[in-house]
Amino acid sequence: MPRLAPPEVDRVAAAHAAVAARRARAAVKLAVHDRTRSAVDVLEAAWADPPAAAEASLRVRELLTSIPSLGPTRVAKAMRELGIADSKRVGGLGVRQRRKLLEWLDNRENRRGPRDLARLVVLAGPTAVGKGTVSTYIRENYPDVHLSVSATTRAPRPGEVDGVNYFFVSDEEFDRLESSGQMLETATVHNAFRYGTPRAPIDEALATGKSVLLEIDLQGARSVRRVMPEAVLVFLLPPTWEELVRRLIGRGTEDSAEQQRRLETAKAELAAQDEFDFRVVNSEVSTAAREVVDLMVIPKNYRSSTHG
Ligand code: 5GP
Repeated sequence: MPRLAPPEVDRVAAAHAAVAARRARAAVKLAVHDRTRSAVDVLEAAWADPPAAAEASLRVRELLTSIPSLGPTRVAKAMRELGIADSKRVGGLGVRQRRKLLEWLDNRENRRGPRDLARLVVLAGPTAVGKGTVSTYIRENYPDVHLSVSATTRAPRPGEVDGVNYFFVSDEEFDRLESSGQMLETATVHNAFRYGTPRAPIDEALATGKSVLLEIDLQGARSVRRVMPEAVLVFLLPPTWEELVRRLIGRGTEDSAEQQRRLETAKAELAAQDEFDFRVVNSEVSTAAREVVDLMVIPKNYRSSTHG
């Protein structure tokens, strides 16, 4: 009788081999991520005779996203420029693609300074989702992260400190900062007050290898993407829409007309989440903060922490 399926023992062996191969590839990616191995070294092993199996079967995209200073957006751009398909494995590259990839990596290594190790991460999300709480938690618990202090024309709320929560400035002072080119981005939020990100502290932090977190609104996130395409955009989500409404009303700092206006804004803002590189659900502040901080050091090769 013809054999229609491999015997059980073959299937088990194949499954074991697949698990071992996945583990071996994960170990290669981890070594690149930890900088114990360079990406060029992995390529050389994959293209050796005989080729190293784990290295050769690794996808190019996975190898590149394991490099600590490369985010998913930059990897996607590089792959497009190099003409390498998303599913391509290292061992399956043609001669021309191999040469171009090696050249591209060589160029990067030679230009690498502290700036490439640091990341600019933008945290945005709908109003009242808890961006402020998450960024305050990060300021208090992760001193290595530089938190950008925005300028605003609104008055301080009780407990807010000038120079810590915001630089509270007049309209004239804001005009001056903007027109003299000192702002990375500015926006009028909720049709009311003006907010902006001072540029100099960010440049200084990045130049010394310190990652920077900007907690700004959606318009600001879009502006940053335009001027600094390498920035990583993170969208903070509420666990549910009902929870967002509860948080907004519960805060009690705005009158009902203002609450209604903010709910409308929140709806529009939620619709923009697909423009972002990552999404983090703010169910629990310390967990959400940890996830945001992780994005500052560990590039991920999937678009969203919620796997959406
Ligand atoms: P709040 O007045 O409640 O502190 O902030 C109102 C909104 O302004 C929040 O969505 C906050 O993320 C945003 N925001 C704070 N600073 C900046 C900034 O520098 N630029 C932009 N575009 N938005 C900001």
